[in-house]
Amino acid sequence: MTTVVEPTSHASVKAPPFGKFFLPGPTEVRHDVLAAMTQQMMAHRGKDIELLMARVLTGLQAVFRTTRLVHTATSSATGLMEAGVRNAVRERVLCLVNGSFSERFHKAAVNSGIAADKLELPYGHYHSPDMVADALKGGKYDVVTVVHSETSTGVLNPIADIAKVVHAAGDVVLVVDTVSSMGAGQIECDAWDLDYVLTGSQKALALPSGLAFCTANDRVMARAKESKRRGLYFDLLEFEEYTKKNQSPNTPAVSLLYALDVQLAHILRETMEARWARHTAMAERTWSWVGQNADKLGISLYAPEGYRAPGVTCITAPKGKPGSAIVSEMKKRGFVIASGYGKLKDDMVRIGHMGDHTLEELEVVLESLGEVMSA
Ligand SMILES: *Cc1c(COP(=O)(O)O)cnc(C)c1O
Repeated sequence: MTTVVEPTSHASVKAPPFGKFFLPGPTEVRHDVLAAMTQQMMAHRGKDIELLMARVLTGLQAVFRTTRLVHTATSSATGLMEAGVRNAVRERVLCLVNGSFSERFHKAAVNSGIAADKLELPYGHYHSPDMVADALKGGKYDVVTVVHSETSTGVLNPIADIAKVVHAAGDVVLVVDTVSSMGAGQIECDAWDLDYVLTGSQKALALPSGLAFCTANDRVMARAKESKRRGLYFDLLEFEEYTKKNQSPNTPAVSLLYALDVQLAHILRETMEARWARHTAMAERTWSWVGQNADKLGISLYAPEGYRAPGVTCITAPKGKPGSAIVSEMKKRGFVIASGYGKLKDDMVRIGHMGDHTLEELEVVLESLGEVMSA
């Protein structure tokens, strides 16, 4: 006999108070954004969805700082990482690797049958434009992949300058992962001439997980037309055809689109500039807190000065206090933060000060973290 375990009905459950959940993704979602998802379905062909998708497109263009189409995919961000390499690479890709997520780009290429090399640095380091220019000298590569904010290390790569050297190397395009930085720090897709840019919903945009967004310029679209590996679900030509009509190629996650529509309105009301400033303030406060407590607690910042992500900070764990133990102690106090990612699990803790959090909420977390680390 099978026992059926009934799932909890959430209809009457009140969401917990904001300001407790500081993972570097997923992040806390506003209650009215969550509530938007309880609306009834709508047809994915027709006037209603077109009005919604048109609003969403305008909002995403403002977030991405582009006049190009911005596509919404029903997938996590990894899907659009894969789309980037499948659509853009002709012969061989160079993957800038300095952490777990940039490593994933390489894997996405290799598993798609694409010839790929790594320009690999120890974790915690950033890629300088000079290194990239050197690596492109032989003319071997037609695409470079880069992760802007490496969520596993808290390192921020200088993508605007990397884009310049990539384009100076000839017919090479830059494929950029901005999953934990889009909505947290300045990213100018058009002004910085970024060829393909992708992000996910559940990090600094503070949406539920399950959607991903990307934009591709004419250089990438010309390559997509010739690509034999673009497949169907992540075919950029399909996305272009449908996004233009304010539709999606396949049935979208309608509930998530309702949430996106409401959250984009919040983001635009705040303005991108104010959003960046709020994230800068939270990041700088975290860095200075680590500085003030460095000697007392035996902690340090994992990322080098000048190359620190606006939305996530990695703090090395004090001696004798593994990252995972700190995370469980924080949990007992009602706060969710992250340990290190993958092989760095016990070496650090990671605070996701991204999304809709405020400096005031962050202060409370840091205070608790100080107590836990010195206990
Ligand atoms: C979270 C993250 C991803 C993966 O996103 P999924 O939505 O889990 O597929 C990729 N890159 C970076 C930098 C991330 O932070």
